[in-house]
Amino acid sequence: MMEAKEACGVFGVYAPGRDVAHLTFDGLYALQHRGQESAGMAVSDGENLTVMKDMGLVTTVFDERKLSGLGGDLAIGHTRYSTAGSSSWSNAQPVYRGAGRSGFGMAHNGNLTNTAELAERAGMLPGLVASDSDLVADLLAAAHAGGDGPASELEAALRLVLPDLQGAFSFVFLDAERVVGVRDPNGFRPLCLGRLEPAAGAPEGWVLASESPALDVVGATFVRELEPGEMVVIDGTGVRSERPFPADRIDPRLCIFEFVYFARPDTRLYGNEVHGARRRMGELLATQAPVDADMVMGVPDSGVPAAEGYARASGIPYGQGLVKNRYIGRTFIAPTQTERANGVRRKLNPLRENIAGKRLVVVDDSIVRGTTTRAMVRMLREAGALEVHLRISSPPFRWPCFYGIDTPDRDELLAATRTVDEIVTFLGVDSLEYLTLDHLVTAIDAPGAGFCSACLTGTYPVPVAMPARVGTVAVLAGATSTTAG
Ligand code: AMP
Repeated sequence: MMEAKEACGVFGVYAPGRDVAHLTFDGLYALQHRGQESAGMAVSDGENLTVMKDMGLVTTVFDERKLSGLGGDLAIGHTRYSTAGSSSWSNAQPVYRGAGRSGFGMAHNGNLTNTAELAERAGMLPGLVASDSDLVADLLAAAHAGGDGPASELEAALRLVLPDLQGAFSFVFLDAERVVGVRDPNGFRPLCLGRLEPAAGAPEGWVLASESPALDVVGATFVRELEPGEMVVIDGTGVRSERPFPADRIDPRLCIFEFVYFARPDTRLYGNEVHGARRRMGELLATQAPVDADMVMGVPDSGVPAAEGYARASGIPYGQGLVKNRYIGRTFIAPTQTERANGVRRKLNPLRENIAGKRLVVVDDSIVRGTTTRAMVRMLREAGALEVHLRISSPPFRWPCFYGIDTPDRDELLAATRTVDEIVTFLGVDSLEYLTLDHLVTAIDAPGAGFCSACLTGTYPVPVAMPARVGTVAVLAGATSTTAG
């Protein structure tokens, strides 16, 4: 089976009388950071669905001419994250299936963990299933009556199929008349609901999005985050909520790495803006790992809020040490190590006058392979830094994610098998400290909330089939990961 790792952005809008294609374009543009490989949308005019998708950034895939041809009342959209090896048109979403009266479209953020088992149970050859998202679409299509069923057939099919799915999934669906949002029972990936000013005489408008800035950009007001295990159906009668999963499967485990790196800083998760959490991570890092230095700087962009916090708590002046080319994407996604290393130079350039002769505290959110970090440290030294003290606002990243963040194999994760001292040598820094998991959870400040921190602890809340070369640590079925106190 082709491994399609889906770390993506999803969007849905129900707004009769409004220009839903443009709204979806704006929403996807705000979610571009969640996926830069492909983009697409499915639009319904009340009777027919039209799907348009392609490889590339949102602005590459859509232009004014294409958008103006996509008239409709409701739409869903998707941005897909790039991974080496599974980068192909066939993985672009939304996925479409011609089942039921109008057919349906589907967009997925996450990764199922029981794809092979589901394929086998459905009598499909696992080797022929293109991706977990395709399989879900096939199962839903098979659960439709075949075109003669009621208009709400998609809902009925979802009620049948969803309870069998394991793993991480935030979905948006649409058929001719409705938009549906679903969050898995662990709520691994975010999904939120917003209200949109309706067109004159039209029913109320609603928006679903992976992250709240996609609501802001279309002028929707944030209503709430969907709950783990919740399905919402949006049509002309409003929003209906139901729980298609058994109650004993509900166990909130929002991905802790969304707070560390993945989500936008202006996104609201667990009730708080992510930027504040990142600033507090830096503040706690300053108390946990102080150092005598002349300047605190953040690695742009994701290290900057924590650097601000470190500077504030330590009293060491904050300064900018690196300029990031704002037109460049995330270097991490380049398929080869050489490309990634070159990518760093394209992306970051030092501010020599700010750095020369200084002892620096350099704050970043995480170290994954170490490629970016190592090249960046060398760059700072060449620019005249006297000392480089690296402070990371999360614990060592040691385990691959099977729930929707694209991570390398375990043997490529710098911290998987190395001690901190070995990492210090590899990176060429004067000192290195990682924020503790307790401090990370404290910084997020969502008392009682549950997290998945499998990438940091190796404890996977939903059983995963680990490739043998990933490691020898057994994955405990049903084991729990960090829960905030
Ligand atoms: P590296 O130095 O190669 O370990 O890359 C670490 C940098 O990549 C960090 O500064 C993060 O901001 C960023 N990063 C962390 N996780 C991911 C991810 N899953 N996808 C893309 N970039 C990431």
